[in-house]
Amino acid sequence: MIRALIGLLIAAIAAAFIRGVIQMITREVGQMVNPDSNKANPNAAGPNTANAAGPSGTATPLRKCAVCGTYTPGDRMIQGKYCSEACATRSQ
Ligand SMILES: [Zn+2]
Repeated sequence: MIRALIGLLIAAIAAAFIRGVIQMITREVGQMVNPDSNKANPNAAGPNTANAAGPSGTATPLRKCAVCGTYTPGDRMIQGKYCSEACATRSQ
């Protein structure tokens, strides 16, 4: 029983470690593919990440269509519930 718990703990630690490594690699590859993004626009790395969901950002929370279940940016939804006119009329 204790052995199983220890195994589980080790698995959890390994999973966290692997996730960290993958995030690191992803970041490195992103910088490799687009190396000037930080130099050309020094603000991009800092405050913009915190403001991503802010009023000026393009990131709008996705909302699920009440009819077909498609996720659509909230500001583009019809009546705040439907992804398209078709779904809005289908629900009526
Ligand atoms: Zn829909």
